[in-house]
Amino acid sequence: MSIKNVKGTHDIIGEEATSFTYIENLLKQIAELFGYQEVRTPVIEYSELFVRSVGESSDVVRKEMYTFLDKGERSITLRPEFTAGIIRLIVQNKLLATSELPLKTHYVGPAFRYERPQLGRYREFNQFGVEAVGINSAEIDAEVIVLSYTMLQSLNLENVLIKINTLGDEESRHNYKNALKQYFSPYLEKMCPDCHSRYELNPLRILDCKVPEDQEIVKGAPKIKDYLSKNAKEKFDYLLSLLDGLEIPYEIDDTLVRGLDYYSETVFEFHYTSRSGKDYGALGAGGHYDKLVKELGGPDVSGIGFSLGIERLYSVLKDDGLLEGYFDNDLDIYVMPIGQIDKQFVLQVTTGLRLAGYRTDQCFEDVKLTNMFKRAERKNAKYAIIIGENEIEKHEVIIKNLRTTEQETCPIDQLIETISRKMNEEDLDEEFSQNVKEG
Ligand code: AMP
Repeated sequence: MSIKNVKGTHDIIGEEATSFTYIENLLKQIAELFGYQEVRTPVIEYSELFVRSVGESSDVVRKEMYTFLDKGERSITLRPEFTAGIIRLIVQNKLLATSELPLKTHYVGPAFRYERPQLGRYREFNQFGVEAVGINSAEIDAEVIVLSYTMLQSLNLENVLIKINTLGDEESRHNYKNALKQYFSPYLEKMCPDCHSRYELNPLRILDCKVPEDQEIVKGAPKIKDYLSKNAKEKFDYLLSLLDGLEIPYEIDDTLVRGLDYYSETVFEFHYTSRSGKDYGALGAGGHYDKLVKELGGPDVSGIGFSLGIERLYSVLKDDGLLEGYFDNDLDIYVMPIGQIDKQFVLQVTTGLRLAGYRTDQCFEDVKLTNMFKRAERKNAKYAIIIGENEIEKHEVIIKNLRTTEQETCPIDQLIETISRKMNEEDLDEEFSQNVKEG
C-alpha cells in the first residue's frame, strides 16, 4: 500500500503554492511598510513554554498539542501558535533592552494543532502574523488593527468584518470570572466534562464551549462589559475613537473572548464570507497581552499581535476569483532539440538564455517537433529555439516567433543579442498598441 500524507495535513501544489507565496510576500511587504521586521523561531519548543503562556485551561494546551519526549527525555512541542515562541525569542535575546519600543516583529510559517480536520481547519496550517511588544498604549493597539485591516484590503478582501471586544484589565477579569462562576454554578452538573475543568481553571473558557446544550446556558451568562473597571472602559472607548478617526470599520462583539489564556483588554477577529457562502471560520485574530512577557521571564511590559491563516486567506481569495491575473508563468522561450543531437550544446543554449534573464525551458523528452510546438503553446512561450543536426554543424539555431510564425536562422554567438532586440521590439509594439487603445 502506498504511503499517504498524515491526516489533517495537505500538499500545496501548483497554483496554490504560487498563491501562498504571493499572499505571504504581500503581507510581508505591508508589515515592513509599517516598520515590522521579520523573525524566525524554531518549529519545536519546550512544552512548558506553551503551558505557561497559552495556558492550561485553553483547548490548545489541553487537547491539541503535538507533544513528544525527545531522545534526551525532554518534553518538546511542535508550535501550536507563534506568539509564545516570539516572546521567548525576544526575552532570551534581550531585544527589549536594545531596541526602540515597541519592538515590532512579523513572522510566517507552519503551526500544528491536533484538531478535528474540517473545512478551513487543518492539523498543520500556516500563519502570518505580527507582534508589537514593549509599550502599553491604545495607539499601538490601533496601529496593529490598522495594519491587519490594510493587509486584508490589499488582498482585495472588501467587506471584512472586524469583531472587537475588551476582556478588561486584571481587576475587571477577576470580578467577571467570579460573576461567571456564580452564574454557571447551578448549571454545572448538566454541563460537559470539559466545562467542569474550565470552571475550575478559567471560567471564561466556558463561553467558547461548542456543545449545543452548554451554548444555550452560555447565552444567559453575564457580559464582560458590565464588569469593566473605569480604566479598562476608558481605554477601550479611546481605542474605538482612534479606529473611528482612522475610518476602520468594526463591530463590538461582547461574546468574543478568544481561546488563548494570555489575552487581556483588546481582542479582535476578522470575518469574511466568500461569495460562494462557504464559511471557513475566522481569517485571523489577535489581541493585547499584559502579563505574557513577564510570565516568560522578561520585563513587566505589554504587547499586541495578530495572526492570519494563509490556508483560509487562499480559500476565500480563490472562491471569489481574487487571485486571477496575478500569476504569469508564461515562458519567453522554449528550446526544442530535434532527434539525437549533442545535448550539451542544447543545455548551453538554454542556460545562456536563462542567464541573460529570459524565462526559458527546454524539452528533455524525445518527442516529435509537433508535440514540442504544442508544449510551447501550452506554456504560452513567445519564441521557440529549434536546434537540429544541421544547426549544430553550422553553429546556428532557428528562432521562431510563435505569435507571427516568422522564423530566421541565427548564428549561436548572436543569439542573445538577437533575442534581446526582438523582445525589445515586441515590448515597444505592445506599448504602442496600449497607447492607441487608451487614446
Ligand atoms: P488563533 O491562533 O487560534 O488565534 O488563529 C489565528 C488564525 O489562524 C485563525 O483565524 C485561522 O485563520 C488560522 N488557524 C487557526 N487554527 C487553524 C487550523 N487548525 N487550520 C487552519 N487555519 C487555522
